[in-house]
Amino acid sequence: MSEVSNESMQQAVQAKVEGPFRASFTEITNLPESLKALDTISKNFYWSWQPTGAALFRELDPDLWIKHEQNPRLLLENVRQLRLWQKAGDEDYVGKVDAFAAKLEDYVSTKVASSPSIAYFCAEYGVHNSLPNYSGGLGILAGDHLKSASDLNIPLVAVGLLYRYGYFRQTISHDGLQEERYADVFESELALEPVLDDFGEHVSVVVHIRGREVQAQAWLAKIGRISLYLLDTNVPENIEIDRLITGHLYGGSTETRIVQEKVLGIGGVRLLRKLGLAPSVFHLNEGHSAFLTLELAHEYLSANPSASFEEAQTAVRAQCVFTTHTPVAAGNDEFATSELGECFSAEYISSLKLSQEEFFDLGRIDKGDDAGPFGMTPFALRMSRSANGVSEKHGEVSRSLWRRMFSENYEENDVPITSVTNGVHAPTWVASEYQNLFERSIGPDWRQLTHDPAAWKSAIDNIPESKIWQTHVQLKNLLIAFIRERTRAKETGATDTIHEHTDTRKLLSPNVLTVGFARRVAAYKRWNLLLSDLDRLLKIVDHADRPVQFVFAGKAHPQDRTAKQILQQLMSINHDSNWQHRAVFIEDYDQEVARYLVQGVDVWMNVPRRPLEASGTSGMKAAMNGVLNFSILDGWWIEGYNGENGFEIGDLSEDDSEAADARDAESLYSTLENQIIPAFYELGDNGIPTKWIRKMKDAIATLTPKFSSDRMVNEYVERIYRS
Ligand SMILES: *Cc1c(COP(=O)(O)O)cnc(C)c1O
Repeated sequence: MSEVSNESMQQAVQAKVEGPFRASFTEITNLPESLKALDTISKNFYWSWQPTGAALFRELDPDLWIKHEQNPRLLLENVRQLRLWQKAGDEDYVGKVDAFAAKLEDYVSTKVASSPSIAYFCAEYGVHNSLPNYSGGLGILAGDHLKSASDLNIPLVAVGLLYRYGYFRQTISHDGLQEERYADVFESELALEPVLDDFGEHVSVVVHIRGREVQAQAWLAKIGRISLYLLDTNVPENIEIDRLITGHLYGGSTETRIVQEKVLGIGGVRLLRKLGLAPSVFHLNEGHSAFLTLELAHEYLSANPSASFEEAQTAVRAQCVFTTHTPVAAGNDEFATSELGECFSAEYISSLKLSQEEFFDLGRIDKGDDAGPFGMTPFALRMSRSANGVSEKHGEVSRSLWRRMFSENYEENDVPITSVTNGVHAPTWVASEYQNLFERSIGPDWRQLTHDPAAWKSAIDNIPESKIWQTHVQLKNLLIAFIRERTRAKETGATDTIHEHTDTRKLLSPNVLTVGFARRVAAYKRWNLLLSDLDRLLKIVDHADRPVQFVFAGKAHPQDRTAKQILQQLMSINHDSNWQHRAVFIEDYDQEVARYLVQGVDVWMNVPRRPLEASGTSGMKAAMNGVLNFSILDGWWIEGYNGENGFEIGDLSEDDSEAADARDAESLYSTLENQIIPAFYELGDNGIPTKWIRKMKDAIATLTPKFSSDRMVNEYVERIYRS
């Protein structure tokens, strides 16, 4: 990602830098005795993946729940006293609260007793919307990893950073331009607890940065049985500029990125030690945290003063495993050695028994290449005993991409980079309506069986077609209601942004085939492929008997002009056709929007340029909800597609020419026209689309077990963490 010095971000920085220091944790004191358990429940994100969890809070005050964006801490703090006392006297409600609290207590008390043997490091975590500490796929994946590790009772501890401004919020102005807002994060409003030592002091670590000792304090987020520690440099002891090291996720200059990654890697290891933890495996989830290997080497050399760096490296490699997520060289974090040199003191480098050039060489693709930048991926590869990509195809791409780093003797297939295909956390992403169906057909323990394909096949077959359809139609109506509400002009009557309609009652129809397309706006995702033949597209949308409607969502990187233009192009389709009420863009794509979308559309479309989609995970979420994927055979879909459980676009060629784009566009339109639309609108004798439902069942049964994050985490345990 490029350097970000966005104007609105700068303003946010200037406006807020004098803001308060926030190291206190607000206790919610206004709760009636019978509802006190809500405070406990809200402090562990466990509620967020239980079917009844969100309902518990929503029921207190549904409007406030939306207003505070599903943040239970804010809800509890702001709910009216009258309402609280009404609910405190509601036996049914109090019973539900008590039962949930007991379930949580039971869940966390069965945590394996041993101290964590795996430390998971990642720059972002998408656990829930109420912890806005992620930007996209990588963060969501890390969040799902923690939830599965919790459910599977894996002894894992996680480390990350707490960003003061999280990631930006998106609005689209009248002229179709994306605008960004950066909201300040208040720890006291989040389900975070300060990590305190025996004296009640806030635990912090010190990292040498910019010639100063910079402090980073630690916060704890409880993800079921898993502890997620987040470091934050916004403390009074630091000078202003250092307080902003953990300001923005992937923001700031190259220098900021380097020092941020020092806090994550070096600070992260120091925090674990301060907490008395000695994991045997360090999982570098993407290269951002790779500086942690330096700290491990530093520790080794302090304990073994006569050892060489090579010996330290051997010891470090034995403990570290690395997952790469990027299939293009340019997408990997890379720093000019001149800038890197500024960020590491000569003293620290020499304490590692390295010269500066030897240090730089650790991150260069070719050792001794004086001009070569320091790449976090080459560095992580050199410092880890295991490396993997995130789908079979991405493993292959990574072996070819990084082959140069390994001995000449390796044939491409033998380059030691394997793959563990990503997965998603079913209890988080499957609609509660479907969860009820699964519970009845597979059994109450369906969540524990998500990795068992045999259990799924027959059980899903046995669900009546009408039941599947009824469930789907319910979710589709829910999505449409959500969209109509989100896009309605605010009370002021002003249509501030392009998507705000004064009358949304006609927007979208539950009877029309609905295609969802939501993802980051980046060139390789080819947002404009669908628009390449506008006349043809509008004919599809306008068809009298078999129309199609589209739902879009996605953010462009603030500095990515091309991506912003793509969005603007999409917004500017203003045609004398049905497009205005059959296509909608939902602003501010996040976990909550994603959930409605992947549960409520009929078809999930993805058109990346092969082979640049490392895995992709949103399609997995859709499949688990009976939504049919309609996708380029790239990333996970190569492994997922079986000819029946969705639709393919294009072929397996890898060609980035305009002609190839045109071929894929042709395949997209013709598959839509000749396969998807007829299949969707063809009704059986019972008045429902039986052939379509057959495919939905196929998708649920074949793809849920295969792409569950339980399967993924089990694979990491068996194949990667165990040495
Ligand atoms: C799942 C998810 C992603 C990642 O999906 P892709 O298929 O990789 O684009 C990104 N953002 C959000 C909010 C998600 O829920």
